[in-house]
Amino acid sequence: MVATITNFKRLPIQDRLSIAGLLYAMLDLYRSDNTFQQYDDLDAQSLFVKLGISDRLINEFLRPTLLVGLFKPPEELSAAVTMELLYFYALAHQDSFDVRWIKSKSIAEHLFAPLSRRLISRHHLQVLGGTLVRRVTLSSDSLRVSSVEVENVATKAVQVIDGVDAVVLAVGAKGLKSLMAQSPELSKVAPELVGAASLGSIDVVSARLWLDRYVPIAYPANVFSRFDSLKGSGGTFFMLDQLHKDAQQALWGDEQPQGSVVASDFYNASAIAAMSDQEIIDRLTRDLLPIAHPAFTNARVVDSEVRRYPGSVSLFSPGSFRKRPPLETSVESIVCAGDWVRMGDKEHGAKGLCQERAYVCGLEAGNSLIRRKIVNGADHSHPVLPIRADEPQVVLGRALNRLVMDPIEALGLKLPWFNS
Ligand SMILES: Cc1cc2nc3c(=O)[nH]c(=O)nc-3n(C[C@H](O)[C@H](O)[C@H](O)COP(=O)(O)OP(=O)(O)OC[C@H]3O[C@@H](n4cnc5c(N)ncnc54)[C@H](O)[C@@H]3O)c2cc1C
Repeated sequence: MVATITNFKRLPIQDRLSIAGLLYAMLDLYRSDNTFQQYDDLDAQSLFVKLGISDRLINEFLRPTLLVGLFKPPEELSAAVTMELLYFYALAHQDSFDVRWIKSKSIAEHLFAPLSRRLISRHHLQVLGGTLVRRVTLSSDSLRVSSVEVENVATKAVQVIDGVDAVVLAVGAKGLKSLMAQSPELSKVAPELVGAASLGSIDVVSARLWLDRYVPIAYPANVFSRFDSLKGSGGTFFMLDQLHKDAQQALWGDEQPQGSVVASDFYNASAIAAMSDQEIIDRLTRDLLPIAHPAFTNARVVDSEVRRYPGSVSLFSPGSFRKRPPLETSVESIVCAGDWVRMGDKEHGAKGLCQERAYVCGLEAGNSLIRRKIVNGADHSHPVLPIRADEPQVVLGRALNRLVMDPIEALGLKLPWFNS
């Protein structure tokens, strides 16, 4: 709240102070597995209300923050994951969190293409682009994977890969759902994957506008807060020309640079996704951007692009924790990786919708296969860097809370927000 004092200028101090109870709940979150589970069963909105956080702070600060941090409003989010996100992104790493936007081309071209080229040339990796895994078949004792069936999305050509040592399931809930529907043996022996496949996911829409003039606004990275025209979704917009002052040409490709380039993402965006591309562009240029800053009123759109990503993002709903996929599954040669995976004793400090979490989990999935000698990796397991340690006041607060709360709970008493 202190760090954002210059960004949220209109929030009165008494509303800001009402967040204190949430700081206590954050200290309480990891007291025991049972405590974490109880917070996970609770939705974040109910927790905020029970902690006495003011309506204004919820609606003007926490709700828009969550809509762009976990892509859902607080009533649809696990209170546990909400607190993990706020702690990881805001409280613990305030000074190391900032927005960076790749200057030219895409992450796929700049990061993944060179990585895959290197793996192909040095380690004989075969990459099947535009290809989905349709079915996983198990060995007769159901302990291992025997083959994987894949389908090329464009040509519909099906290929069966035999002699599979191991499978890393790095898919989200939507992908897992269709995979489990086609893999009856796997569904039978791995109920945890069936449970994970039943979890929800979130639609995202992104739009990019090339404008005929430069629009100078105070901050390059912005959150739309409380706009009815968002139809319940969260929204952000980034002034790419301000984030990359030295790369105007790259932003415009072969065209002569004319003005600002705005990237806007909509999360929890099912209603927006149902609109046509032109309606989405109109919504941005008429109902959103000019209200965020009047200088957008006269800007004309020279070019635009809209992309839809249905069911592409993990939804951390209340009570979802016990259903999220584990790192190691009932089938010894299948491991899971991704931001929604529960990592058990390998759990990492990066939380929420987060590439760092997905990446670390991928390393841990590989390490698990090597450690259990399911694949021959000899000395090739990857080190995982922990996030930096909790600050002393957090460590002390957690210890004091445990000292007080454990005996109280042993007497059968609960914190008031756990009484329904
Ligand atoms: C608009 C937006 C902005 C974001 N901004 C940030 C940010 O600034 N910082 C950050 O850390 N995180 C950010 N995130 C979150 C981040 O992108 C995710 O946390 C991360 O991508 C999760 O990685 P993952 O490997 O778990 O899943 P994904 O990246 O979703 O990968 C799953 C992959 O599985 C593929 N797949 C599905 N089914 C199959 C199948 N049957 N066979 C083969 N493949 C299949 C999918 O096509 C997909 O490519 C953002 C997300 C979005 C949508």
